[in-house]
Amino acid sequence: MYYNNNTLIYLDGEFVKANESSTDLYSQTLHYGYGVFEGIRAYKTNNGTKVFKAKEHYERLKKSCELVNIPFNSTVQELVDATYELLQKNNLTDAYVRPLVFCDPNMSLTKPNNVSIMICAWEWGAYLGDKQLRLAVSSYCRPHPRSIKIEAKVCGHYINSILATTEAKDKGYDEALLLDSDGYLAEGPGANLFFEKEGVLYTPQLGNILPGITRATVLELAEELGIEVKQGLYTLEELESADCAFYCGTAAEVIGIESVDDKQFHKKWDDTLGKKLQEAYSQLVRKTETLVYTTL
Ligand code: PMP
Repeated sequence: MYYNNNTLIYLDGEFVKANESSTDLYSQTLHYGYGVFEGIRAYKTNNGTKVFKAKEHYERLKKSCELVNIPFNSTVQELVDATYELLQKNNLTDAYVRPLVFCDPNMSLTKPNNVSIMICAWEWGAYLGDKQLRLAVSSYCRPHPRSIKIEAKVCGHYINSILATTEAKDKGYDEALLLDSDGYLAEGPGANLFFEKEGVLYTPQLGNILPGITRATVLELAEELGIEVKQGLYTLEELESADCAFYCGTAAEVIGIESVDDKQFHKKWDDTLGKKLQEAYSQLVRKTETLVYTTL
């Protein structure tokens, strides 16, 4: 599904075959989940392939490394260029791009001296599908920000996401909704939450969530569209009395939520601000860069 005999990956400055690459079984990343990664999307546009917010994603990768004391040995621009080259070499246009910084062999609980970086990419459709989601409130809460670096996209943090997703799916739901450790609304296992009430959008404030690049994009789009957005600490009851809600993330894009623990939102998705933002997001990611010609 992810690669075949011809697939190339980027590994420490070179392009190598995916099926001929390997990693050390004594890597700290494998044993302790001590690595950082990104999830990026490339879109086919009228003007070739565009990697959406590539710079922002690699800047977050760099910041994630800094936050957890993992060396970051590349520049953001090198990695942006490598991503375009990787997509071209693999003939990919609409694709998901996965950079991963992983550590050298080290069985102790100390910061690493050496790391590697790999970037792989594959063709991928809508992560959560395109129909509205039925959510289950998770029995797991998001990790406490004093236990981990919540703003960092660290491999090991995703055990929380996997547990929550598995629990929701095992109960017959599409996806989980996680609260923070104080019981306020937080986010999905891999997406940020927004809800609409009486024409205003609400989203959990930063502090207990991953600061999503899609969340930031939705905030920008809302401003452009003249939609008021409030950020704060909100309760499950506030969500349940909302008119509608949606998740957003690089993989999920903007996707409507049908119900939370079987309590349905009454507003028709097509009439919501979420739908408006879903369309605006879909157009934005496929928009070609505007070329600005200057006359000397
Ligand atoms: N929250 C979590 C926990 C995530 O894993 C993701 C996906 N990276 C998001 C939110 C959304 O972030 P982004 O929009 O940057 O993909």
